[in-house]
Amino acid sequence: MIAFDGVTKKYPDGTVAVDDLSLEAPSGKITVLVGPSGCGKTTSLRMINRMIQPTSGTISLDGKDTGRMKESELRRGIGYVIQHAGLFPHRTVIDNVSTVPRLLGMDKTETRKRSMELLERVGLDPAFAQRYPAQLSGGQQQRVGVARALAADPPVMLMDEPFSAVDPVVREQLQDEFLRLQGELGKTIIFVTHDIDEAIKLGDQVAVLKVGGHLAQIAEPAYLLSH
Ligand code: ADP
Ligand code: ADP
Repeated sequence: MIAFDGVTKKYPDGTVAVDDLSLEAPSGKITVLVGPSGCGKTTSLRMINRMIQPTSGTISLDGKDTGRMKESELRRGIGYVIQHAGLFPHRTVIDNVSTVPRLLGMDKTETRKRSMELLERVGLDPAFAQRYPAQLSGGQQQRVGVARALAADPPVMLMDEPFSAVDPVVREQLQDEFLRLQGELGKTIIFVTHDIDEAIKLGDQVAVLKVGGHLAQIAEPAYLLSH
């Protein structure tokens, strides 16, 4: 479980991006943070893996304060997927997926085999493994981004608008494949979006944020639909 306890982030210019946020993201479930641009979604996500330090409050991972965890432990245990895949442009698809496991010291042949399996699981044609990111469509790049984040088999995945930059038809495919994959893998996921329909479709629970970084509501999608 990921728990935010009274977390506030005030940037040096005085902007309060996240204001006294407390919420729990249960293990094996998808928690969606939804709200308009500027409500503090990305800031909240980046505080979990300590890309950003909270000003006050604590974030814990299975009861451990992330502020006291080693960077290597956070990197290994938390996968991260962003809007424009963020792939290494000068590495092939297979090398993009293999990079993190190799850095973690996993065996080369084994890593390659697992990377190919992952590409298949996220619905990418294995024939694309030797291509460079620029030779793929936006939707295909996002699939590689998801495969790369899964490669180190992290128990936690942070996803920041991963499907927002592709056209609606591809987005729906990616969402469906993501739900199917999550059904098999059961990761603890925090998923950020500004799209309430996407939040309701994907979330086991949905946290609605307001500008100023306040939590307005946290509920199951069925509750949000009926209120
Ligand atoms: P969201 O992901 O919901 O769009 P962000 O977390 O990116 O929101 O931003 C929340 C607020 O913090 C916004 O008002 C944004 O302008 C501000 N902000 C984000 N990053 C910085 C920064 N490095 N310095 C100052 N203000 C920032
Ligand atoms: P999408 O419908 O997902 O946006 P695109 O129209 O971008 O897809 O791409 C359609 C097909 O063309 C894809 O199979 C993609 O792999 C291929 N493709 C796109 N850009 C290139 C490129 N620069 N070189 C080779 N193949 C490409």
